[in-house]
Amino acid sequence: MQKSGSRRKGERLREAARKRWRKFNKATVRTLFYNRLARRVIGTITHFTETDAVALTFDDGPHPEYTPQLLDILERHQARVTFFPVGEFAQKYPELIRRAAESGHAIGNHSWNHAAFPFVTGREQRAQIRACAQTLAPYEHRPYGQRLFRPPYGYQNVFSRLNALWLGYQVVAWSVHAEDWFDRDAEWMTEQLLQKIQPGSIVLLHDGVFDGLQERFFDRGQTIQAVAMLLERLAGRFRFLTIPELLREGRPQRENWYIPLANDKVKRMRMTLNRMKRPEGEVRVYAK
Ligand SMILES: [Zn+2]
Repeated sequence: MQKSGSRRKGERLREAARKRWRKFNKATVRTLFYNRLARRVIGTITHFTETDAVALTFDDGPHPEYTPQLLDILERHQARVTFFPVGEFAQKYPELIRRAAESGHAIGNHSWNHAAFPFVTGREQRAQIRACAQTLAPYEHRPYGQRLFRPPYGYQNVFSRLNALWLGYQVVAWSVHAEDWFDRDAEWMTEQLLQKIQPGSIVLLHDGVFDGLQERFFDRGQTIQAVAMLLERLAGRFRFLTIPELLREGRPQRENWYIPLANDKVKRMRMTLNRMKRPEGEVRVYAK
């Protein structure tokens, strides 16, 4: 009696374990499926495959001193790049946006004043994108006919991604950077970039700076120098094309690119944002 009772108990436990395993498997498969589907539909572009070209991208401009220098260097190397200007600066220096667009560079949207989207309302997210678009018009999606958005700080959550989708934007992140938002040395950045760049890479750089933790980070001279050295060293190895050109000839690779959900991490991000300084204008304070 006792023996068969414990056997039955063992059987029951094994059956329960099998059930749990099946349930776990189903949940995992379901999560993977939704993740893949989400990546396809609202994934953020990080790089390209099936191309020998590289996409250099420049955020937070235009800057009256550095952007013209950069445009000269790009012209010398016949490199076309993608700019993600901030609306507030684009309105101040419209001739730089015009010059960039007329030189064949693509112009994307980087919000009106660099708001960290996950920390503002959905209504403000849309207003930020629209206000920037208005300033960039008529250059925003000409000559390439693509609306591109890069989230300030690379910060995005599902809701801000859906807002960009709602307004017809593809979201573009990056696969390579050299921490140029700090005051890194030009040689060091060039070495980093040379090591990391591959066919299809999207490279994050800054021709301007909206805000930073230290005032010395506002100087973009080292980045401009690094770009000049990089283009010299890579001459003949890659073509440098805009994101819309790569969308035509490469295959975009997408990622579910969102800020962490953990509360303490988000709190720390907000605290860092609140410590930022700006070269011009008021710093934004994010409510707790
Ligand atoms: Zn930025």
